[in-house]
Amino acid sequence: MGYNIFRNIQLKDSFKLKLKSFIETLGSAIKYGQKIPFADNDISYALQLKHQRIAGKGLEINYELYDRDNKAGVHVCAEWKDTRYESYVCSEQYGVKRQINRDGKKLYSDKKKNYMYTTITDVMSGVHPDNEVISCPNCGNVSTIAQIQSGCPFCGTMYKMDDLFPKVTGYHFIEDVGVAGNEHKAGMALSVIITAAAMVSLLFLGTLLRGEPIDVETVLASFIMLPLGLFVGYIGYGSFLLIRLIVVGSRQSAGKWGTIGSRKNFEAKMREFSPDFSFEYFTSKAISLIKTAVYAPDAQQLLFYRGGPLDPRFKDVIDMNYGGAIGLSDFRQENGKVIITTDAFFDVLYANGDVITNRRERYKAVFQRRTDIPVDMGFSMTKIQCPTCGSSYNAVQNRLCPFCGNAYNIESQDWILTELSYQ
Ligand SMILES: [Zn+2]
Ligand SMILES: [Zn+2]
Repeated sequence: MGYNIFRNIQLKDSFKLKLKSFIETLGSAIKYGQKIPFADNDISYALQLKHQRIAGKGLEINYELYDRDNKAGVHVCAEWKDTRYESYVCSEQYGVKRQINRDGKKLYSDKKKNYMYTTITDVMSGVHPDNEVISCPNCGNVSTIAQIQSGCPFCGTMYKMDDLFPKVTGYHFIEDVGVAGNEHKAGMALSVIITAAAMVSLLFLGTLLRGEPIDVETVLASFIMLPLGLFVGYIGYGSFLLIRLIVVGSRQSAGKWGTIGSRKNFEAKMREFSPDFSFEYFTSKAISLIKTAVYAPDAQQLLFYRGGPLDPRFKDVIDMNYGGAIGLSDFRQENGKVIITTDAFFDVLYANGDVITNRRERYKAVFQRRTDIPVDMGFSMTKIQCPTCGSSYNAVQNRLCPFCGNAYNIESQDWILTELSYQ
């Protein structure tokens, strides 16, 4: 595990290209339900459910990402490894424009200036994953990495290792109150022009109101007033940006302060029985489980969810973005299990009939996993191995093993969600 505060980790060019392709196709994956390249299966599945939720409400979403600084510089914020995989958390300034339509008529639109955080995971060099199972990015069926390279036994698609790894295993946006690239220029120009024009006009108006003639002196004074106005406009707009940074920044983080310190605390506790434990990995998993539960037609049908019926309000969620904070409110260890209660922050878009509302929300989410099994970063419910007959299959598509008919107990492998509710 390493945090890239002092070191400057560079992402390989091949990774950058995959990230770019992921970012460029995210909008059409949400809008049209198209397959998204280089995304891991959990992300693809959540995106597919989200698309179905929006379409099921008779709505259409235009979801567009735009590069805010145009410098295409990805910053690597953190990296971590287990025995087989290495992951990098990257950030770049990307904005999001959303528009919700019904029958071509606009119901809602917004534009957010964000930082986009992505996690990209690769097989460690020197590790030969040929016998590992993977779910086909095209049809979702499961085979080994070696098999799929000579053609998926189910759909025939052939893959190169480069198509399979590295892949994007997480993404979210954090609203940015600062400015990137040229974003301040239009506002600044307007402020400078208006202020200068107002000050010069006041000078002339004042002269007229006092009943004095407009003479050479007035014109000379206006020549001094003009640069002064430009200067005041410049300082004024700069102060506005600064005040906005402080006010909006503190409003955004309201309530999230409680999560600071959680991370160290949580990591220390988890590493007692899982030395490879990574907070980033857990967070990606938690976000993915929460999103899938919210977008699923019936959460109780999901393999990883063991709670009661979800609050019906979740049925109106059409878009949700992880708000950048997940706090630990309780940590218990009992009967060979660890039970973690979290506060998770999300920016959520609701559609109730034609009324679209955007809310910043906080959920209580309880997760549980066994403590005697090490965390497997490559684990996904889309490619599980049946403990009864040893066959591999996609548990999202099949609740029972298609080979022997036995039910899979996901609790013996991975985190499960046992409660999701509004705070
Ligand atoms: Zn296939
Ligand atoms: Zn089986």
